[in-house]
Amino acid sequence: MKKVEELILELSKRYDGDKGSLYFTTPFELLVAVMLSAQCTDARVNIVTKSLFKVANTPEQFAKMKVEDIEKLISSISFYKNKSKHIKECSIQIIENFGGKVPETMEELTTLSGIGRKSANVIMLEAFNNCQGIAVDTHALRLSNRLGLSNETDPLKVEQDLLKKIPKKYWKLVNHLLVYHGREICDARKPKCDKCTVYKYCKYVKNK
Ligand code: SF4
Repeated sequence: MKKVEELILELSKRYDGDKGSLYFTTPFELLVAVMLSAQCTDARVNIVTKSLFKVANTPEQFAKMKVEDIEKLISSISFYKNKSKHIKECSIQIIENFGGKVPETMEELTTLSGIGRKSANVIMLEAFNNCQGIAVDTHALRLSNRLGLSNETDPLKVEQDLLKKIPKKYWKLVNHLLVYHGREICDARKPKCDKCTVYKYCKYVKNK
């Protein structure tokens, strides 16, 4: 078995790679949660969306709201002012361009305000179970570098390296595993290498 497959299987013994960690019940709720999660923890987002979605959880409802009212509901989230604008703009775009439904292709999703390739990847995977790539957030980026899966620092280039090296059947798992391992063990400043089950694959410890 290839080293990269061994590494994935090792991580999947530790984490449930089938599930993401953002709470949602509809594709639109997920889209909002994904927007809020940029540079914010999923745990914080889940706390905020629990009450936010009781007030509004459809494009029609958000499109009618004032940006300032959305701001009040998500004020504990980082960059909440920008994110509030994006939620409103994106809701209007979904109504006007996609008949009120979250589009189901990467090309269409990335036309929406506040949705880049990373967010579109998460939406395609979690909402539509149609994995198109690997979302490279801060954890996936760090792990990819440390485990020698990519030497790049630009998330889009890191993703391209991952897609070349990792067989497609593992993409869904890898989307979750790198994030979970980054959060739990491979901290940016103080990685818990003594507790790491993929220690033997790590370039970072070998180069220390
Ligand atoms: S050995 Fe340490 S640095 Fe390497 S992946 Fe594991 S926790 Fe991260």
